[in-house]
Amino acid sequence: MFRKRMRVAPFVLAVLLATGLVPAYRPALAQQASPVAPTRAQAQMVVTEAYEKFRNETGGKNADYIPVLAQVDSKLFGIAVATTDNQVLAIGNTDFAFSIQSISKVFSQALAMEELGPDVFFLKIGSEPTGRAFNSVFAVADMPTHTGNPYVNAGAISTVSLISGKTADEKWNKILNFYSRAAGERLTLLNEVYKSEAATNTGNKALSMLLAKYDRIYADPFESVDVYTKQCSVGVTVVQLARMGATLANNGKNPATVEQVIKPENVPYILSTMMMAGLYDGSGGWAWKVGLPAKSGVGGGIVAVVPGKGAIAVFAPPLDEAGNSVKAQKVIEYVARKLDFNIYSPRSVGLKPGGPVASK
Ligand code: GLN
Repeated sequence: MFRKRMRVAPFVLAVLLATGLVPAYRPALAQQASPVAPTRAQAQMVVTEAYEKFRNETGGKNADYIPVLAQVDSKLFGIAVATTDNQVLAIGNTDFAFSIQSISKVFSQALAMEELGPDVFFLKIGSEPTGRAFNSVFAVADMPTHTGNPYVNAGAISTVSLISGKTADEKWNKILNFYSRAAGERLTLLNEVYKSEAATNTGNKALSMLLAKYDRIYADPFESVDVYTKQCSVGVTVVQLARMGATLANNGKNPATVEQVIKPENVPYILSTMMMAGLYDGSGGWAWKVGLPAKSGVGGGIVAVVPGKGAIAVFAPPLDEAGNSVKAQKVIEYVARKLDFNIYSPRSVGLKPGGPVASK
């Protein structure tokens, strides 16, 4: 009886699969790359919960020192998860292109490191948290490296100055092309944002001159500020941003195009920089609560990378005092807790309390 059933079962299953009566096997989220990644159903549930829980959150305020950002609808809200095995979950305003702003700094760091390698990059820029606002002049004057790290404006402008190219246009095209390869599709400049920022960026110009005083900028200061301003004005949807993060989670290889965009050996340096300085002077609190490398931008985006598994990107314009999206922080914290993503927790590699302990 038992045997007979065993012989029939595969045949019946094959027929059911062929006729579509049983859904084809759907791989769990990112589990090819990471055996401890959540299932797609778990992730879908938690992301939907987070969306519902925080959609009416009203804390924070749009950035307004770049005039055009104050006009973006504060209620826009989108979440996307992209995985190392090229699955995407998305909810909310997922096709609105917002300015990438400071999240761009991660990918310019990556590009400069492609050209220079980690050691030279570290010497020229460094990776020390400043404990100050992202546009601080004091940090440039006070810190021994002056540049601080590649995610404060001074360090980011200096990073742009390291990227090779005969003209500013050549550098800019190289940057845009690199970001596009990380996203897996062609990204474009939001011209309105660029014009608005270029008309008001006296503070960044001042930073570039101060860097010049300390010999910590490596090309023409104002030209570097202009290319930097363009890179901050690149438009991304939350899905594109999640895909850029998934490229980092996948050791630098874009999961959708399968192109090795970033050298794998550079990725840990980039992620550690994100952990220390990705949310500016909010970075310590973020590492404490969430434990994921992440990067924010004043356009309202944040992307958090879950190494080996994927990335979560959230867009919601209102910011806290440090310049980080209020809703995006809440969503990522919620999702990371529910799905055991904190990289400092043994749960992130599948060890549950009461699990195996080292033998004596
Ligand atoms: N383009 C913005 C600036 O230079 C970027 C700042 C940010 O996103 N924190 O001020």
